[in-house]
Amino acid sequence: MVLGMGFVPTGEKNNDHAVMWPAMAAIAAVVFYWSVAKMREFFRSVETLHHELKQFQCEDCLCYCCSIGHATVDGQTLLCDRRILLSCITRWFGSVQAFDSVVRSEVLTCLTEQLASQVFTYKEFVVMAVPVLWLHMDDASTPLDWILRPADGHTVWVDYEMKISARAILRGVGGTFGNVPILFHLTSKLTCLLRKQVGRTERVKLCSSVLINCSVIVIVILVFVGMLYLELELLISGSLEGSLFTLAIFDLVVIVCAMLSFRCFPTQINF
Ligand SMILES: [Zn+2]
Ligand SMILES: [Zn+2]
Repeated sequence: MVLGMGFVPTGEKNNDHAVMWPAMAAIAAVVFYWSVAKMREFFRSVETLHHELKQFQCEDCLCYCCSIGHATVDGQTLLCDRRILLSCITRWFGSVQAFDSVVRSEVLTCLTEQLASQVFTYKEFVVMAVPVLWLHMDDASTPLDWILRPADGHTVWVDYEMKISARAILRGVGGTFGNVPILFHLTSKLTCLLRKQVGRTERVKLCSSVLINCSVIVIVILVFVGMLYLELELLISGSLEGSLFTLAIFDLVVIVCAMLSFRCFPTQINF
């Protein structure tokens, strides 16, 4: 769903990326915009469902059989589903009123809670972030390829290549289990908070929606750039061994932060 974010630039200034990156960024922006719009819509529909269930009344439900007067076009009489259902409900729940109150309390709580707070969990977001790991595994495989298939006349620095490879893996782990879930979580929090449509006319609603969606995107991208900048700072500071160590610490910190943010600030609608 939010896979549009599932690409993380590796940070190396490579000329091959001059065309690929803007193209990927453009695709990501479109997909990301769409995801943000859809997520806001989702939270709005959960809210609507909540309000509808809160006023649920069995009596309000329409029945096809009753609407056509219990007779088909060719004059045959139809059994009344409504009477059958109501008698079943009375048998199971004691009375129709008791059934109504079960829907308004237990069913309402379970359904909206599951929809609003159990869809966007840490686990779900890690699963969505897995392509980030693939990207870094791809990065990690290049130095290993140098070791396994060295170019003629070149000395292979096994130790060095292994460390470069380990660095890519560390970045992938941090991204998949830390950074990207944090970004996804931020997106879900923001879209949940800003789910409401502003304005009375359709045109105003559309304009305000575009503005809201774009501000969500800008905030998430700013945080993303901040994270990337911090990571790159850590990468270029000190020796390769040193950067491996700081990167491992960084990974640990972001993963703990990611888990804590999901636990302490779960995405939920306060009804
Ligand atoms: Zn019916
Ligand atoms: Zn009927």
